[in-house]
Amino acid sequence: MIKIDLQKAYDSVEWPFLRQMLTELGFPEQFIIWVMEYVQTVNYTVMINGEPSEPFNADRGLRQGDLMSPFLFAIAMEYLSRKLNELKADRSFQFHPKCAKLGITHLSFADDLLLFAKGNLSSITALHKCFSQFSEASGLQANLGKSCVYFGGVKGEIQDSILSHLGFVHGTLPFKYMGVPLSTKKITLLQWQPLIEKFTARVTSWTAKKLSYAYWAQLFLIPAKVLKTIDAYCRSYVWSGSNTITRKALVAWDRDKMWIRWIHAYYVQGKLLRDMPIPAQASWITRKILEAKEHLHLIPINDARPKAVFTMWLQLQGRLATTDRLVKWGLAVDTTCILCQNQLETKDHLFAECEFTKAIWRKMQQWLQWLPAMTWNQHTKWAIQKAKGESQQAQIFRMVYAECIYAIWMERNHRIFEKKYRNWEAIAREVTYICHVRAAPRVKILLQSFVF
Ligand SMILES: [Zn+2]
Repeated sequence: MIKIDLQKAYDSVEWPFLRQMLTELGFPEQFIIWVMEYVQTVNYTVMINGEPSEPFNADRGLRQGDLMSPFLFAIAMEYLSRKLNELKADRSFQFHPKCAKLGITHLSFADDLLLFAKGNLSSITALHKCFSQFSEASGLQANLGKSCVYFGGVKGEIQDSILSHLGFVHGTLPFKYMGVPLSTKKITLLQWQPLIEKFTARVTSWTAKKLSYAYWAQLFLIPAKVLKTIDAYCRSYVWSGSNTITRKALVAWDRDKMWIRWIHAYYVQGKLLRDMPIPAQASWITRKILEAKEHLHLIPINDARPKAVFTMWLQLQGRLATTDRLVKWGLAVDTTCILCQNQLETKDHLFAECEFTKAIWRKMQQWLQWLPAMTWNQHTKWAIQKAKGESQQAQIFRMVYAECIYAIWMERNHRIFEKKYRNWEAIAREVTYICHVRAAPRVKILLQSFVF
Protein backbone atom coordinates (compact mmCIF):
# COMPACT_ATOMS: atom_id res chain seq x y z
CA MET A 1 0.00 0.00 0.00
CA ILE A 2 1.29 3.45 -0.87
CA LYS A 3 0.09 6.52 0.99
CA ILE A 4 0.68 9.68 -1.02
CA ASP A 5 0.45 13.10 0.48
CA LEU A 6 -0.33 15.63 -2.24
CA GLN A 7 1.82 18.68 -1.82
CA LYS A 8 -0.14 21.93 -1.31
CA ALA A 9 -2.88 20.26 -3.28
CA TYR A 10 -5.28 23.18 -3.77
CA ASP A 11 -2.56 25.65 -4.67
CA SER A 12 -1.01 23.65 -7.46
CA VAL A 13 -3.88 22.55 -9.71
CA GLU A 14 -3.03 23.76 -13.22
CA TRP A 15 -5.83 25.76 -14.82
CA PRO A 16 -5.44 24.42 -18.39
CA PHE A 17 -5.68 20.91 -16.92
CA LEU A 18 -8.88 21.76 -15.09
CA ARG A 19 -10.37 23.25 -18.24
CA GLN A 20 -9.41 20.14 -20.20
CA MET A 21 -11.00 17.89 -17.57
CA LEU A 22 -14.25 19.85 -17.62
CA THR A 23 -14.33 19.66 -21.40
CA GLU A 24 -13.57 15.94 -21.54
CA LEU A 25 -16.21 15.22 -18.93
CA GLY A 26 -18.72 16.88 -21.20
CA PHE A 27 -19.69 19.96 -19.22
CA PRO A 28 -21.42 22.60 -21.39
CA GLU A 29 -19.08 25.19 -22.90
CA GLN A 30 -20.81 28.16 -21.25
CA PHE A 31 -20.57 26.47 -17.87
CA ILE A 32 -16.84 25.88 -18.35
CA ILE A 33 -16.34 29.53 -19.27
CA TRP A 34 -18.09 30.56 -16.07
CA VAL A 35 -16.12 28.17 -13.90
CA MET A 36 -12.77 29.14 -15.40
CA GLU A 37 -13.60 32.83 -15.13
CA TYR A 38 -14.46 32.28 -11.51
CA VAL A 39 -11.36 30.24 -10.77
CA GLN A 40 -8.99 32.60 -12.56
CA THR A 41 -10.19 35.92 -11.19
CA VAL A 42 -8.19 35.66 -8.04
CA ASN A 43 -5.57 37.90 -6.61
CA TYR A 44 -3.92 37.89 -3.26
CA THR A 45 -3.05 40.63 -0.87
CA VAL A 46 -0.88 40.13 2.17
CA MET A 47 -0.94 42.28 5.28
CA ILE A 48 2.39 43.93 5.96
CA ASN A 49 2.53 45.89 9.19
CA GLY A 50 -1.25 45.96 9.16
CA GLU A 51 -1.28 47.51 5.69
CA PRO A 52 -2.46 45.53 2.69
CA SER A 53 0.20 45.01 0.04
CA GLU A 54 -0.31 45.57 -3.67
CA PRO A 55 -2.52 42.75 -4.95
CA PHE A 56 -0.74 40.12 -7.02
CA ASN A 57 -2.30 37.59 -9.37
CA ALA A 58 -2.28 33.83 -9.14
CA ASP A 59 -1.62 31.66 -12.19
CA ARG A 60 -2.85 28.32 -10.87
CA GLY A 61 -4.62 26.74 -7.94
CA LEU A 62 -8.02 26.69 -6.32
CA ARG A 63 -9.12 28.96 -3.54
CA GLN A 64 -8.67 27.59 -0.06
CA GLY A 65 -12.00 27.64 1.76
CA ASP A 66 -14.02 28.35 -1.37
CA LEU A 67 -17.20 26.30 -1.47
CA MET A 68 -16.59 25.23 -5.05
CA SER A 69 -12.95 24.16 -4.62
CA PRO A 70 -13.58 20.67 -3.20
CA PHE A 71 -15.74 19.85 -6.21
CA LEU A 72 -13.20 21.14 -8.69
CA PHE A 73 -10.48 19.26 -6.85
CA ALA A 74 -12.56 16.09 -7.09
CA ILE A 75 -12.81 16.68 -10.83
CA ALA A 76 -9.02 16.92 -11.04
CA MET A 77 -8.69 13.67 -9.05
CA GLU A 78 -11.13 12.02 -11.45
CA TYR A 79 -8.32 11.93 -14.01
CA LEU A 80 -6.22 9.80 -11.68
CA SER A 81 -9.16 7.53 -10.92
CA ARG A 82 -9.70 6.87 -14.60
CA LYS A 83 -6.00 6.32 -15.24
CA LEU A 84 -5.82 3.83 -12.39
CA ASN A 85 -8.89 2.02 -13.59
CA GLU A 86 -7.06 1.34 -16.85
CA LEU A 87 -4.63 -0.77 -14.83
CA LYS A 88 -7.23 -3.49 -14.70
CA ALA A 89 -6.38 -4.28 -18.31
CA ASP A 90 -2.62 -3.96 -17.77
CA ARG A 91 -0.90 -7.35 -17.72
CA SER A 92 2.06 -6.16 -15.64
CA PHE A 93 -0.26 -5.04 -12.87
CA GLN A 94 -1.63 -7.32 -10.15
CA PHE A 95 -4.13 -6.25 -7.52
CA HIS A 96 -3.42 -6.17 -3.81
CA PRO A 97 -4.67 -9.57 -2.57
CA LYS A 98 -7.35 -7.93 -0.41
CA CYS A 99 -8.52 -5.68 -3.24
CA ALA A 100 -8.70 -8.12 -6.13
CA LYS A 101 -12.33 -9.14 -5.58
CA LEU A 102 -13.65 -5.59 -5.80
CA GLY A 103 -10.97 -4.42 -8.23
CA ILE A 104 -9.81 -1.61 -5.94
CA THR A 105 -6.64 0.24 -6.91
CA HIS A 106 -6.94 3.36 -4.81
CA LEU A 107 -8.84 5.38 -2.23
CA SER A 108 -8.72 9.13 -2.50
CA PHE A 109 -9.72 11.34 0.36
CA ALA A 110 -9.14 15.09 0.40
CA ASP A 111 -5.44 15.48 -0.38
CA ASP A 112 -4.53 12.03 0.90
CA LEU A 113 -4.29 9.20 -1.51
CA LEU A 114 -3.97 5.49 -0.81
CA LEU A 115 -2.82 3.22 -3.64
CA PHE A 116 -2.95 -0.58 -3.48
CA ALA A 117 -1.10 -3.22 -5.42
CA LYS A 118 0.45 -6.62 -5.06
CA GLY A 119 3.88 -6.36 -3.50
CA ASN A 120 6.01 -6.85 -6.60
CA LEU A 121 8.06 -4.42 -8.61
CA SER A 122 6.12 -4.69 -11.87
CA SER A 123 2.77 -3.88 -10.20
CA ILE A 124 4.24 -0.97 -8.26
CA THR A 125 5.95 0.37 -11.37
CA ALA A 126 2.67 0.30 -13.33
CA LEU A 127 0.88 1.98 -10.45
CA HIS A 128 3.52 4.63 -10.07
CA LYS A 129 3.55 5.33 -13.79
CA CYS A 130 -0.15 6.19 -13.63
CA PHE A 131 0.47 8.56 -10.78
CA SER A 132 3.40 10.24 -12.55
CA GLN A 133 1.31 10.86 -15.66
CA PHE A 134 -1.43 12.36 -13.52
CA SER A 135 1.13 14.45 -11.67
CA GLU A 136 2.62 15.73 -14.91
CA ALA A 137 -0.78 16.72 -16.31
CA SER A 138 -2.39 18.23 -13.24
CA GLY A 139 0.52 19.90 -11.48
CA LEU A 140 -0.24 17.93 -8.30
CA GLN A 141 2.87 16.39 -6.83
CA ALA A 142 3.63 13.89 -4.14
CA ASN A 143 5.19 15.24 -1.00
CA LEU A 144 8.17 12.89 -0.78
CA GLY A 145 8.74 13.42 2.93
CA LYS A 146 5.18 12.51 3.84
CA SER A 147 4.48 9.75 1.34
CA CYS A 148 5.09 6.21 2.57
CA VAL A 149 5.02 2.62 1.40
CA TYR A 150 3.56 -0.07 3.66
CA PHE A 151 4.37 -3.73 3.17
CA GLY A 152 2.59 -6.84 4.30
CA GLY A 153 4.36 -10.19 3.76
CA VAL A 154 6.79 -8.88 1.18
CA LYS A 155 10.37 -10.18 1.12
CA GLY A 156 13.15 -7.84 2.23
CA GLU A 157 14.97 -7.56 -1.10
CA ILE A 158 11.73 -6.87 -2.99
CA GLN A 159 10.88 -4.19 -0.43
CA ASP A 160 14.26 -2.58 -1.07
CA SER A 161 13.86 -2.56 -4.85
CA ILE A 162 10.35 -1.03 -4.53
CA LEU A 163 11.54 1.63 -2.10
CA SER A 164 14.47 2.64 -4.29
CA HIS A 165 12.20 2.77 -7.34
CA LEU A 166 9.65 5.06 -5.66
CA GLY A 167 11.88 7.18 -3.46
CA PHE A 168 9.25 7.10 -0.72
CA VAL A 169 9.76 6.41 2.98
CA HIS A 170 9.16 2.93 4.41
CA GLY A 171 6.12 3.27 6.68
CA THR A 172 5.06 0.96 9.49
CA LEU A 173 1.62 -0.19 10.59
CA PRO A 174 -0.43 0.86 12.39
CA PHE A 175 -0.23 4.44 11.11
CA LYS A 176 -2.59 7.25 11.86
CA TYR A 177 -5.03 8.40 9.27
CA MET A 178 -7.13 11.41 10.28
CA GLY A 179 -5.75 10.85 13.76
CA VAL A 180 -7.12 7.32 14.02
CA PRO A 181 -4.79 4.33 13.82
CA LEU A 182 -5.34 2.23 10.74
CA SER A 183 -4.58 -1.33 11.66
CA THR A 184 -5.70 -4.81 10.92
CA LYS A 185 -7.21 -5.23 14.36
CA LYS A 186 -10.42 -3.80 15.75
CA ILE A 187 -9.86 -0.36 17.26
CA THR A 188 -10.61 0.19 20.96
CA LEU A 189 -12.74 3.05 22.22
CA LEU A 190 -9.62 4.69 23.63
CA GLN A 191 -8.03 4.70 20.19
CA TRP A 192 -11.04 6.55 18.81
CA GLN A 193 -10.31 9.37 21.23
CA PRO A 194 -8.18 11.42 18.76
CA LEU A 195 -11.09 11.44 16.34
CA ILE A 196 -13.44 12.66 19.05
CA GLU A 197 -10.93 15.28 20.10
CA LYS A 198 -10.34 16.41 16.54
CA PHE A 199 -14.02 16.69 16.07
CA THR A 200 -14.81 18.59 19.25
CA ALA A 201 -11.96 21.00 18.56
CA ARG A 202 -13.78 21.79 15.34
CA VAL A 203 -17.15 22.13 16.99
CA THR A 204 -16.23 25.63 18.09
CA SER A 205 -15.41 26.60 14.54
CA TRP A 206 -19.03 26.79 13.64
CA THR A 207 -18.86 26.35 9.88
CA ALA A 208 -16.39 23.52 9.46
CA LYS A 209 -18.12 21.01 11.63
CA LYS A 210 -20.93 19.57 9.54
CA LEU A 211 -18.72 18.87 6.56
CA SER A 212 -15.97 17.26 8.60
CA TYR A 213 -18.45 15.18 10.49
CA ALA A 214 -20.04 13.88 7.31
CA TYR A 215 -16.57 13.15 5.97
CA TRP A 216 -15.58 11.09 8.95
CA ALA A 217 -18.87 9.36 9.27
CA GLN A 218 -18.51 8.11 5.71
CA LEU A 219 -14.91 7.13 6.00
CA PHE A 220 -14.98 5.02 9.11
CA LEU A 221 -17.41 2.54 10.44
CA ILE A 222 -17.83 4.56 13.59
CA PRO A 223 -19.13 2.60 16.60
CA ALA A 224 -22.46 3.81 17.99
CA LYS A 225 -20.87 4.83 21.26
CA VAL A 226 -18.45 7.18 19.52
CA LEU A 227 -21.26 8.76 17.53
CA LYS A 228 -23.23 9.26 20.72
CA THR A 229 -20.30 11.01 22.36
CA ILE A 230 -19.83 13.34 19.40
CA ASP A 231 -23.53 14.11 19.39
CA ALA A 232 -23.42 14.96 23.08
CA TYR A 233 -20.55 17.38 22.47
CA CYS A 234 -22.53 19.10 19.75
CA ARG A 235 -25.57 19.47 21.92
CA SER A 236 -23.48 20.73 24.76
CA TYR A 237 -21.98 23.37 22.53
CA VAL A 238 -25.26 24.52 21.12
CA TRP A 239 -26.96 24.80 24.46
CA SER A 240 -24.27 25.91 26.85
CA GLY A 241 -21.47 27.10 24.59
CA SER A 242 -19.03 24.83 26.37
CA ASN A 243 -16.84 22.10 25.07
CA THR A 244 -17.49 19.62 27.84
CA ILE A 245 -20.36 17.22 28.10
CA THR A 246 -22.85 18.25 30.75
CA ARG A 247 -25.72 16.22 32.11
CA LYS A 248 -28.00 18.77 30.58
CA ALA A 249 -26.53 18.18 27.17
CA LEU A 250 -27.14 14.49 27.44
CA VAL A 251 -30.79 14.95 28.29
CA ALA A 252 -31.43 18.01 26.14
CA TRP A 253 -32.91 15.99 23.36
CA ASP A 254 -36.34 17.62 23.47
CA ARG A 255 -34.90 21.06 23.25
CA ASP A 256 -32.75 19.84 20.39
CA LYS A 257 -35.85 19.18 18.43
CA MET A 258 -36.85 22.73 19.06
CA TRP A 259 -33.48 23.85 17.77
CA ILE A 260 -34.12 21.92 14.58
CA ARG A 261 -37.60 23.39 14.32
CA TRP A 262 -36.03 26.78 14.79
CA ILE A 263 -33.60 26.31 11.92
CA HIS A 264 -36.48 24.99 9.89
CA ALA A 265 -38.61 27.99 10.64
CA TYR A 266 -35.80 30.35 9.78
CA TYR A 267 -34.63 28.76 6.60
CA VAL A 268 -37.82 27.25 5.33
CA GLN A 269 -40.72 29.45 6.33
CA GLY A 270 -38.94 32.53 7.55
CA LYS A 271 -41.86 33.55 9.70
CA LEU A 272 -42.27 31.57 12.90
CA LEU A 273 -38.89 32.56 14.23
CA ARG A 274 -40.02 36.00 15.30
CA ASP A 275 -42.34 34.44 17.89
CA MET A 276 -39.76 32.00 19.23
CA PRO A 277 -38.76 32.43 22.89
CA ILE A 278 -35.03 32.48 23.71
CA PRO A 279 -34.18 29.32 25.67
CA ALA A 280 -32.74 30.03 29.12
CA GLN A 281 -29.60 27.92 28.64
CA ALA A 282 -28.92 29.05 25.10
CA SER A 283 -25.24 29.63 24.36
CA TRP A 284 -23.94 33.08 23.67
CA ILE A 285 -24.04 32.53 19.93
CA THR A 286 -27.54 31.08 19.94
CA ARG A 287 -28.71 33.92 22.12
CA LYS A 288 -27.17 36.52 19.84
CA ILE A 289 -28.80 34.96 16.82
CA LEU A 290 -32.18 34.82 18.55
CA GLU A 291 -31.86 38.35 19.87
CA ALA A 292 -31.15 39.54 16.38
CA LYS A 293 -34.34 38.05 15.08
CA GLU A 294 -35.91 41.41 14.46
CA HIS A 295 -33.34 41.86 11.72
CA LEU A 296 -34.81 38.83 10.09
CA HIS A 297 -37.54 40.98 8.66
CA LEU A 298 -34.90 41.92 6.17
CA ILE A 299 -33.97 38.36 5.27
CA PRO A 300 -36.99 36.31 4.06
CA ILE A 301 -37.99 36.63 0.43
CA ASN A 302 -35.13 38.86 -0.43
CA ASP A 303 -34.46 39.15 -4.15
CA ALA A 304 -31.00 40.56 -3.57
CA ARG A 305 -27.99 38.42 -4.40
CA PRO A 306 -27.18 35.93 -1.62
CA LYS A 307 -23.79 37.56 -1.01
CA ALA A 308 -25.53 40.90 -0.56
CA VAL A 309 -28.04 39.45 1.90
CA PHE A 310 -25.21 37.81 3.78
CA THR A 311 -23.16 41.01 3.94
CA MET A 312 -26.22 42.89 5.17
CA TRP A 313 -26.76 40.23 7.81
CA LEU A 314 -23.18 40.61 9.06
CA GLN A 315 -23.53 44.35 8.97
CA LEU A 316 -26.71 44.32 11.06
CA GLN A 317 -24.90 42.14 13.60
CA GLY A 318 -22.01 44.60 13.67
CA ARG A 319 -19.72 41.83 12.46
CA LEU A 320 -18.07 43.51 9.49
CA ALA A 321 -14.44 44.35 10.15
CA THR A 322 -14.62 48.13 10.11
CA THR A 323 -11.39 49.85 11.09
CA ASP A 324 -12.61 50.86 14.55
CA ARG A 325 -12.92 47.12 15.29
CA LEU A 326 -9.54 46.32 13.75
CA VAL A 327 -7.94 48.85 16.09
CA LYS A 328 -9.62 47.17 19.05
CA TRP A 329 -8.03 43.91 17.91
CA GLY A 330 -4.65 45.62 18.10
CA LEU A 331 -4.05 46.27 14.41
CA ALA A 332 -2.38 49.47 13.36
CA VAL A 333 -4.57 50.61 10.51
CA ASP A 334 -5.67 53.95 9.18
CA THR A 335 -9.01 54.61 10.87
CA THR A 336 -10.16 57.42 8.60
CA CYS A 337 -13.26 56.62 6.61
CA ILE A 338 -12.06 55.94 3.07
CA LEU A 339 -15.34 57.12 1.57
CA CYS A 340 -15.34 60.71 2.88
CA GLN A 341 -11.71 60.76 4.07
CA ASN A 342 -12.83 62.84 6.96
CA GLN A 343 -14.30 60.92 9.91
CA LEU A 344 -13.50 57.83 11.97
CA GLU A 345 -14.72 54.66 10.23
CA THR A 346 -17.28 52.95 12.45
CA LYS A 347 -20.20 50.80 11.42
CA ASP A 348 -22.60 53.67 12.15
CA HIS A 349 -20.56 56.14 10.20
CA LEU A 350 -19.81 53.94 7.21
CA PHE A 351 -23.35 52.77 6.56
CA ALA A 352 -25.49 55.70 7.66
CA GLU A 353 -23.77 58.89 8.73
CA CYS A 354 -21.02 59.29 6.14
CA GLU A 355 -21.72 62.03 3.59
CA PHE A 356 -20.80 59.67 0.77
CA THR A 357 -23.18 56.97 2.03
CA LYS A 358 -25.93 59.48 2.69
CA ALA A 359 -25.75 60.57 -0.92
CA ILE A 360 -26.42 56.98 -1.97
CA TRP A 361 -29.32 56.60 0.48
CA ARG A 362 -30.75 59.94 -0.61
CA LYS A 363 -30.67 58.82 -4.22
CA MET A 364 -32.45 55.59 -3.25
CA GLN A 365 -35.00 57.51 -1.22
CA GLN A 366 -35.68 59.83 -4.08
CA TRP A 367 -35.93 56.93 -6.50
CA LEU A 368 -38.29 54.82 -4.42
CA GLN A 369 -40.00 57.69 -2.59
CA TRP A 370 -38.90 56.68 0.90
CA LEU A 371 -38.68 59.06 3.83
CA PRO A 372 -35.16 59.84 4.99
CA ALA A 373 -33.57 58.97 8.34
CA MET A 374 -30.29 60.27 9.67
CA THR A 375 -28.60 58.71 12.70
CA TRP A 376 -27.74 55.04 12.81
CA ASN A 377 -30.37 54.15 15.39
CA GLN A 378 -33.03 55.91 13.41
CA HIS A 379 -31.63 54.29 10.33
CA THR A 380 -31.93 50.74 11.68
CA LYS A 381 -35.42 51.34 13.07
CA TRP A 382 -36.43 52.85 9.78
CA ALA A 383 -35.01 49.92 7.85
CA ILE A 384 -36.73 47.31 10.02
CA GLN A 385 -40.01 49.20 9.79
CA LYS A 386 -39.81 49.43 6.03
CA ALA A 387 -38.83 45.78 5.61
CA LYS A 388 -41.79 44.37 7.55
CA GLY A 389 -44.61 42.58 5.87
CA GLU A 390 -45.34 41.06 2.53
CA SER A 391 -46.29 44.10 0.54
CA GLN A 392 -44.53 44.72 -2.75
CA GLN A 393 -42.95 47.84 -1.26
CA ALA A 394 -41.47 45.86 1.61
CA GLN A 395 -40.12 43.25 -0.78
CA ILE A 396 -38.48 45.91 -2.92
CA PHE A 397 -37.10 47.62 0.15
CA ARG A 398 -35.42 44.47 1.46
CA MET A 399 -33.68 43.87 -1.82
CA VAL A 400 -32.55 47.45 -2.36
CA TYR A 401 -31.39 47.76 1.22
CA ALA A 402 -29.26 44.60 1.04
CA GLU A 403 -27.74 45.59 -2.30
CA CYS A 404 -26.96 49.08 -0.99
CA ILE A 405 -25.22 47.79 2.13
CA TYR A 406 -23.25 45.39 -0.03
CA ALA A 407 -22.32 48.10 -2.53
CA ILE A 408 -21.10 50.42 0.23
CA TRP A 409 -19.01 47.67 1.79
CA MET A 410 -17.52 46.67 -1.56
CA GLU A 411 -16.72 50.27 -2.46
CA ARG A 412 -14.96 50.63 0.87
CA ASN A 413 -12.95 47.44 0.22
CA HIS A 414 -12.08 48.32 -3.36
CA ARG A 415 -10.78 51.66 -2.21
CA ILE A 416 -8.66 50.21 0.58
CA PHE A 417 -7.38 47.09 -1.14
CA GLU A 418 -7.29 47.96 -4.80
CA LYS A 419 -7.11 51.75 -4.72
CA LYS A 420 -10.11 51.86 -7.05
CA TYR A 421 -12.50 54.73 -6.52
CA ARG A 422 -16.01 55.27 -7.85
CA ASN A 423 -18.40 58.11 -7.17
CA TRP A 424 -21.70 57.62 -5.40
CA GLU A 425 -23.74 58.16 -8.56
CA ALA A 426 -22.07 55.20 -10.23
CA ILE A 427 -22.72 53.03 -7.18
CA ALA A 428 -26.36 54.11 -6.92
CA ARG A 429 -26.84 53.41 -10.62
CA GLU A 430 -25.32 49.95 -10.28
CA VAL A 431 -27.59 49.10 -7.34
CA THR A 432 -30.59 50.17 -9.38
CA TYR A 433 -29.48 48.09 -12.30
CA ILE A 434 -28.92 44.95 -10.21
CA CYS A 435 -32.30 45.37 -8.51
CA HIS A 436 -34.10 45.70 -11.82
CA VAL A 437 -32.49 42.47 -12.97
CA ARG A 438 -33.06 40.59 -9.72
CA ALA A 439 -36.59 41.70 -8.84
CA ALA A 440 -39.15 38.90 -8.70
CA PRO A 441 -42.00 39.09 -11.26
CA ARG A 442 -44.53 40.14 -8.59
CA VAL A 443 -42.63 43.36 -7.82
CA LYS A 444 -41.10 44.08 -11.20
CA ILE A 445 -43.86 46.27 -12.54
CA LEU A 446 -44.01 48.40 -9.41
CA LEU A 447 -40.21 48.78 -9.47
CA GLN A 448 -40.25 49.83 -13.10
CA SER A 449 -42.81 52.51 -12.30
CA PHE A 450 -40.25 54.39 -10.21
CA VAL A 451 -38.10 56.86 -12.09
CA PHE A 452 -34.42 56.85 -11.23
ZN1 LIG B 1 -17.13 58.73 5.81
